[in-house]
Amino acid sequence: METFAVRRRDWTRRRRALIDAAFALLVVAALIGAIRAECADEVDLGSIAGIICELSLPKYAGRLTGTDGNWAAVKYVADYFERLGLASPDGLDGYLQPYVQPTRLMHSPPRLEILDASGSVARQFKFTTQFSPSTAPGCRISGEVTAPGVILEHVDDIDRVRGEAVLLVPMHLAANPTEIEAVMRRVTSSSGRDQARLLGVVLEVDTSGRGYFPIGSFVAPGSFPTDRGDAGRQSMAEPASNEPMVFTCDRPTFAELAARSAAATTATAAASSTSRTIRMSTDYSVEPVRTANVVGVLPGGARHIIVGAHLDHVGSNMDGTYNAGAMDNASGVAAMIEIARALSASPVRPPLTVVFVAFNGEEQFMYGSRHYVSEPCLPLGDAIMVNIDTVGSPRGVLLQIENAAGRDTQLVRDLCSAAAQLGMGFRKSASSGTDHSSFANAGVEAANLIQPDFAGGYHGPGDTADGVDPGRVAEVVRLVLAYIRTARTAPPD
Ligand SMILES: [Zn+2]
Repeated sequence: METFAVRRRDWTRRRRALIDAAFALLVVAALIGAIRAECADEVDLGSIAGIICELSLPKYAGRLTGTDGNWAAVKYVADYFERLGLASPDGLDGYLQPYVQPTRLMHSPPRLEILDASGSVARQFKFTTQFSPSTAPGCRISGEVTAPGVILEHVDDIDRVRGEAVLLVPMHLAANPTEIEAVMRRVTSSSGRDQARLLGVVLEVDTSGRGYFPIGSFVAPGSFPTDRGDAGRQSMAEPASNEPMVFTCDRPTFAELAARSAAATTATAAASSTSRTIRMSTDYSVEPVRTANVVGVLPGGARHIIVGAHLDHVGSNMDGTYNAGAMDNASGVAAMIEIARALSASPVRPPLTVVFVAFNGEEQFMYGSRHYVSEPCLPLGDAIMVNIDTVGSPRGVLLQIENAAGRDTQLVRDLCSAAAQLGMGFRKSASSGTDHSSFANAGVEAANLIQPDFAGGYHGPGDTADGVDPGRVAEVVRLVLAYIRTARTAPPD
């Protein structure tokens, strides 16, 4: 009996202990829930959406570095930093870090046309949906060429072409890197010769999955002096006369051009030089422009983190359309500003000093972030860098936490565990295609956050604000906030 009574008391005690433990668990869960709810509430979806809509407006005209629209975006971000009470770093005037970089500017839309026997335009193709110029160094980017079309079936047939010609390169050559490299090498070396002057090259490309040619504004380093001022307005607009004009076009356009051209293997290739049926023209220049990064500081602990996002995009198509760059990368700028807003609204100083940088020139080989690294506002020392480029996927594309050059860093591991704690889906990957790599190359631990969703229209007029989900941008904001608030205040040993 006694045994039973003891057992019973024992059981009652255990039950109490169990109930207490369960209650404690409930309290903890409720607290975590409350903290999560508070974190969720502090992120303002309306503010994120407003910034994305604003930077996508026509007045910014796609924010191409060096244009008025880009300067308007610079001013918008600087004004925002001021309203949030961020500090302008020592030595900068109103948050602006000016520098000079080359920019490729389009002055009027490129043209690709078929001419009839009298030289009148018989057919005009549409820029971006049917063709696009290549503006890589070595291609002629301004002026006009008119010549008969000659279709290339084999690389060696280039030697059979006589007189001036526009070379039509079908997909079986154009899509093969080895073949196309051989074609371009032969075109450049043979075009100066007497027997053939290859004025233009049109490459057949399959755009069926996309329906347009994404606009690039790439200006490779080394193609232009980056030193000061507008001294020496060196430009690829006046290239050596033997540089061909190179276009890519879609399959139907190529078929139409080919129907009016001769095969390089036939004798008519030479004879046809009397009928100049293809006209190509472009109107670009590459010029040094004065531009600026925008830098704002929120003081915190001794160690600092750079939170960056590029504000530039690829600009206007000069035909009444422009590339708004809502996802690429108004979304990242909105995330960065929202992080600044949430941290500066909090009464608690962050454990790290946070340097917010809206980079310029990312679309043109990351000139802005490379400039920042060469002249950092705070010594980079043991700094860390988190970049945000292309977020807000409305199609549920998973967040990627990217390091540069495949290095598994403590920063990436910490970001992953912060994402896991927030119950956020993500995957780790590597990329060097955006601004974090400028920092990684300088020895700074750096990561990029991206939801790589290009279905809305990568570098094209389709990348508009209504194609970005502010809720997905908010995910990234919460992740960076959680990371900063729990960050290591010293580098790992
Ligand atoms: Zn881009």
